[in-house]
Amino acid sequence: MEKISNDADTLEMLDARYLMHPFTDARANLQGGSMVIDRGEGIFVYDSSGKKYLEAVAGLWSVGLGFSERRLIDAAVRQMEKLPYYHTFTKKSHAPQIELAARLIEMAPVPMSKAFFTNSGSEANDTAIKMIWYRSNAMGEEKRKKIISRKRGYHGITIAAASLTGISVDHQSFDLPLPGFLHVTAPHYYREGQEGESEDAFSTRLVNEIEALILAEGPETVAAFFAEPVMGAGGVIVPPDGYWEKLQPILKKYGIILVADEVICGFGRTGCMFGSQTFGIEPDMMILSKQLSSSYLPISAILMNDMVFEPIADESHAIGAFAHGFTNGGNPTAAAVAIEVLNIMEERDLMAHIKDVSIHFQARLRALGMSSTLVGEARGVGLIGALELVTDKVARSSAWPVGQLAGYAFNLLENKGVIARVMGDTLAFSPPLIITREQVDMIFDRVEQVLVQVENEIRS
Ligand code: PLP
Repeated sequence: MEKISNDADTLEMLDARYLMHPFTDARANLQGGSMVIDRGEGIFVYDSSGKKYLEAVAGLWSVGLGFSERRLIDAAVRQMEKLPYYHTFTKKSHAPQIELAARLIEMAPVPMSKAFFTNSGSEANDTAIKMIWYRSNAMGEEKRKKIISRKRGYHGITIAAASLTGISVDHQSFDLPLPGFLHVTAPHYYREGQEGESEDAFSTRLVNEIEALILAEGPETVAAFFAEPVMGAGGVIVPPDGYWEKLQPILKKYGIILVADEVICGFGRTGCMFGSQTFGIEPDMMILSKQLSSSYLPISAILMNDMVFEPIADESHAIGAFAHGFTNGGNPTAAAVAIEVLNIMEERDLMAHIKDVSIHFQARLRALGMSSTLVGEARGVGLIGALELVTDKVARSSAWPVGQLAGYAFNLLENKGVIARVMGDTLAFSPPLIITREQVDMIFDRVEQVLVQVENEIRS
């Protein structure tokens, strides 16, 4: 094997030869072309040729504290020196996981009683599904196993989590979703709202659809409803007026557990600590990951209230131990990093910073919706936002095949040193939470230049 050096060409060649990438056309990657990221500093990353990029999606919506937070590194080193690994199976325990559980439950926006730790968002959602199924069995409600989620929702990619996910490419070729996973219309007013329909009327229609589905399936067979407060990977979809207000009483009426997948929204992204607070959601379970450790180490958590926990724990319903867990779930080093994330957020009053900078972020984003003929809709909340691109604003359509317009703009933007995210014809932004107003301007000045360039090319 060649000696691996940091030489950009060598790394790119070895990448093409040896690596299979997630969510990537495996054959196309054989031709090379990967951008090898070498180091990070604040909200910037540098590729192996030394080129600097503003990471306007915080990696995968996750590096909230940026790429060079010394305190997270020190917290990991301290914990590694003391106890790098232990587990919490069968009544063993360790301080970082205990402290993190207590902190998360204290800060939850609604009363929660227990935390369970896993390693990724997908694992956490899979675990929540198993808890919900176990609970139904423990309660003697064996038929109550169906799960409702939304089209365009993203909940991960393991077999059950991908079944929750409502994006067809994640199902095609994998024989998914599994039976019993049902998907309802995305709360995407721009795309799904009807001519003349108000946002509120749109919400009523969607909630009626959900209730009709519950009744058609049999309420005694429906166990849970999973949703992201703001859909991320489905295109940054902010719920329309009245959606959560109307939906929650319906779920309560039929005894359906509400699971808020806060994997993207959690820890400040939407302008409150949790997306549930931003939208008045009162979940029975919460799924946390990504910014929990600022992605420095893998960790995720499920929080649950007593309504979920008690039947699982009730001895009179005992059906054996809850036989589920992961070798590294809540690893002490990852948990120590997560605790330090919470310390930093508190000590630096990061929520106040996010509230301030997000006003500017949203203003710059929405100004593009007004000024550019290519932006069909500019939407977002807090420090998450998206531009849905079209070539015909009135028809809300693009003359280009799906994905090409946003893909083209994305490439131009990357050449200008800004990394965004493309989903269909939507360009998404969710920068590290530590971003400043000046850095927000750096993103949107360049986005504006790119949109003007594409506009000129298309219209000339
Ligand atoms: N849930 C949401 C809302 C996500 O956005 C993601 C990943 O992007 C996941 C779950 C899955 O997380 P992971 O990739 O860590 O499995």
